[in-house]
Amino acid sequence: MNSEIHKAIIDQFKSFGFDQRIGHAWEITRMNSLNNWNMSKPSTKEMAEAGFYCPQSDFPGTVRCFSCFIELDGWEPTDKPWEEHKKRALTLDPPCKFVELGKKEADLLVEDFLDILKSIMLRILKEETEKGLNTVMSLHKKKKTALKKELQKLGIS
Ligand SMILES: [Zn+2]
Repeated sequence: MNSEIHKAIIDQFKSFGFDQRIGHAWEITRMNSLNNWNMSKPSTKEMAEAGFYCPQSDFPGTVRCFSCFIELDGWEPTDKPWEEHKKRALTLDPPCKFVELGKKEADLLVEDFLDILKSIMLRILKEETEKGLNTVMSLHKKKKTALKKELQKLGIS
């Protein structure tokens, strides 16, 4: 897949409002985020190739996958980023699409890339839905407790 197509797809998805979360779908963007990485092995190149970027520059040792959002830290020089990613990401529900495809960025077809972006959007929607439901449920609980108290005051409960 050439970078022009890649950029066009990213721009399209950005227009849907997913820009924050898909920004690291580019390997070069992931590489740039790892500028505080302080190990020579595994290298920033290996980390970025395996899908990882640094989400917080204050914590350069913690990396996140752009596709499944899994976060890993405590890296050892002998660790292989792809292997570490694979070990964990395929047990996720849904599994990491990037790992499932198992291709380097240069080998990804347009269809592959779209599949990854779709899986990212679905994962975001799932997370947001769960967050929203939790908020609604906790408001509901508060309201219920307050109502119970009112009823008790009135001697109705
Ligand atoms: Zn992943």
